[in-house]
Parts: sequence; structure tokens; C-alpha cells
Amino acid sequence: MDEPTLSVSGRGGSGLPQTRRLVTEIPGPRSRALSARRVRSVARGVSSTMPVFARAAGGGVVVDVDGNTLIDLGSGIAVTGVGNAADEVVAAVAAQAGRFTHTCFMVTPYEEYVGVCEALARLAPGGFEKRSALFTSGAEAVENAVKIARSATGRGAVVVFEHAYHGRTNLTMAMTAKAMPYKAGFGPFAPEIYRLPLAYPYRWPGGPQHCGEQAAAQVIDLIRTEIGAGAVAALVIEPIQGEGGFIVPGTGFLPRLAEFCADAGILFIADEVQTGFARTGTMFACEDENIVPDLIVTAKGIAGGLPLSAVTGRAEIMDAPQIGGLGGTFGGNPVACAAALATIDLIESGDLAGRARHIAELALPRLRALADRYDAIGDVRGRGAMLAVEIVRGQGDHSPDRARAAAVAAACHRRGLIVLSAGTWGNVLRLLPPFVISDELLLDGLDVLAEACAEILPTR
Ligand SMILES: *Cc1c(COP(=O)(O)O)cnc(C)c1O
Repeated sequence: MDEPTLSVSGRGGSGLPQTRRLVTEIPGPRSRALSARRVRSVARGVSSTMPVFARAAGGGVVVDVDGNTLIDLGSGIAVTGVGNAADEVVAAVAAQAGRFTHTCFMVTPYEEYVGVCEALARLAPGGFEKRSALFTSGAEAVENAVKIARSATGRGAVVVFEHAYHGRTNLTMAMTAKAMPYKAGFGPFAPEIYRLPLAYPYRWPGGPQHCGEQAAAQVIDLIRTEIGAGAVAALVIEPIQGEGGFIVPGTGFLPRLAEFCADAGILFIADEVQTGFARTGTMFACEDENIVPDLIVTAKGIAGGLPLSAVTGRAEIMDAPQIGGLGGTFGGNPVACAAALATIDLIESGDLAGRARHIAELALPRLRALADRYDAIGDVRGRGAMLAVEIVRGQGDHSPDRARAAAVAAACHRRGLIVLSAGTWGNVLRLLPPFVISDELLLDGLDVLAEACAEILPTR
């Protein structure tokens, strides 16, 4: 078979034409052939949103092996905010890989690791002295945040929330809410994890108005009465939930919990793995309600697509574990650190947080117009370049409609739009565009979503 022609300039993914273009059905023949190989070699537990194999990606597009150009409203799950294969990231990776790819920071350290920790100390909320430790995946960083919190407080219990997602390792599975597919069959899980109600405005029994304060009061009461505040090392929360369905907690919920934690000697840990690095229109989502977490966990968007994660926080907490108590062979890999430094520079110099806010300004009115037209769209929510619609039965019935959400997503996929689903009931469509996507491409993507809704959802 001939190689499909691609105008990749060799400068990285940003050389790709930034327009949606389908030259075969989706998936095309090459992707179907690769899928046939895949099922014979890749474990079926590892699944994919679209059965389309990538060949190049950059800006706001993914080009598949059949030469189709898809609009990327997923960013590889909130990872490639600065654009896929961004030129500056590619150059930093190449230069670092040419110097050395690994020594292990625990054997002979290197400057890039220290540079990332310095950047995190500067960027994370809080005017106090900070330290960081670097790891490889988000789950690994969440695990380490719990280790550090237990070491610093001498307490064991950890509070997490309904709809939470914290990862797929044993401890983080215990912290994650959703059984299917994340936990089913994989227990027993780690003990001393307590799941409490989340301020979910759309589904709060008392209505959205006082959701934040009412939910916080419930959580605090449950901590006091059923766990015992003195037993709790940390409360771990996503400032906007990711896999849980982009739930923005009711106003006041996070500040009240942070205040309670400070009084009770409980560490407030923000899991900003999905929300961090400009995704919600500020460097960290916590900044929105002026939350200063004791520890902040980051990963996904930190390094422009390379695997890197971090725990950052107050020096005295971070320095609690004994020397040698934290680490890992690949943690803070130098190539990933070089990519992170280039990524952070792009976010700051390009005001990509401002770009994320601009994306919300463009997209939210269109999503709200869709919600006006289709009452199966029960809720529109999110912040910055992290936006979602929740699909329900409609006609006053808020019951989740997973099948319809899946059908809308599939209709988008057929038209060349990468869009992901989320939510405890799988009925949320989430948009995570790269910050560098052009306005035209984003608007075309939103038009495709509108077409998909028109195909699947009944009008009012
Ligand atoms: C993705 C995610 C994780 C897990 O990160 P991995 O790199 O997949 O291990 C943890 N927390 C949140 C909020 C996430 O979105």
C-alpha cells in the first residue's frame, strides 16, 4: 500500500494542516488491519475510545494511518494542552535525549529535575517554602501524596469523594469511585479509605443553590462522627472532577473543606492531575476559589505528552518521609523533565491559561444553545478548556442516558471528531481541546457535535 501523503514539515506536529478532512470511512482500512493485529496481541482490558490508529498529531488535529485528519477535542485525556509534538517540546526532548536518557535521580542527580521542582514551587498556590518529588504516572503521584501525608501526620485514614477518580493502582483504585470498569474483579482494595458525598450541583437533592455549603456540612459531620477527625491524615479531592464527569463542586464546598482541614490537622490534597497546567483557565484549578492545598498532585498536562508526575507542597510536610523513603527508577526521567520545562515555558510565555478561558468563551454559548434545543442535555458545565454536557432522559427526567451519550459520541467519531465520554454513569461528553487549537477548528468541532446531537437527540 502507498503511504498516504502527509504534509508533515519535519518541524513537529505543528506543521500539519489544521482542517478536518476524511478520505476514508472511520475507521479506514489501515486502522482496521491494525485493529485485527491488536486483538491478537494486546490484552482486551486495555481499551480505546476510537479504533483509529494515529500516525501524526499536532495543533488541534490527529492524522490517522489512512490519512484522515481528525479534530482533537481530547488532547490524549488532557495531556497535550500545548499541542501534540509542539516544536519546543520536541526540540527539548531531542536535545536531552542526545545528552543522556537516564541516570536515575537516586543514583546521580541532574539539573532538569531540580528545575522542574523549582518551577512547581513558583507556580503552585501558597507563598510558603515548597518541595516536590517527581514520579511517572498520576496514580503513582497520588499514592506518594498519601504516603507523605501519613508520614507527616502519623494518621492513617484518607477521605475521598463520590465520583472521584484517582487512578488504577491498588491504593488509587480504592480511592476511585467507579466499579465498572476500574475496580470490578481487582480487589481486595487498600483499607482506611472513606468515601463521602460530593457537592454535585446538578444532582444535589436540595438543588444547586446551597449545594456547596450543605454538602460541606455533611462531609464535615461524617468525618467527625463516623471516622473521627483525629484519625484522618488527608482529604484528597479533584477541584473539578475529571473521569467523574467534569463536576464543578458547588460554590463554597472547597473553601469550607479546606478551612475545616486546617483546623482539624487534616492535610488538604488537591488532585490536579487533570485540571492542572492551565486546563481550567488558571495554572491550577484551586486558584479559582483561592484554595491553597497542603499538597498538590500533578501529571497529565505537565510535560507536553511525556510521562511525568509530581507531588508539591509545604516543605515541612514534604520533608517528613525519611531519606530514601520516596523515589522510583524512572521518577523524574530527564527527557520528561526537559519536556516539562519546555511545556511550562510555552504555557507561561503564550498565556495558554488565557487561551483556555477564550476556548470557554467560544464554546460555552454554543453548548448552552444545544442544551436549549435538546432537553436530553441536562447540564452544561466546566471551566476553561475542560467543558462537558451531561446527557439525560429529558422531559424533566434527570436519569442518566448512557446509551444516547455513546450514540452522540459515535456520531462525532464517524464525522472525524475525537470526543471522550466520562461520568459515573458514562453519560457525560467531555471536551478537552488543546489550548493551541485554532478558533476555526474548534468551531468546526462544535458544529460536528451539533450535527451529532441533531442526528441522535429528539428536539424539544
Ligand atoms: C488521570 C488521572 C489520574 C491518574 O493518572 P495516570 O497517569 O493515568 O495514572 C489521577 N487523578 C486524576 C484526577 C486523573 O484525571
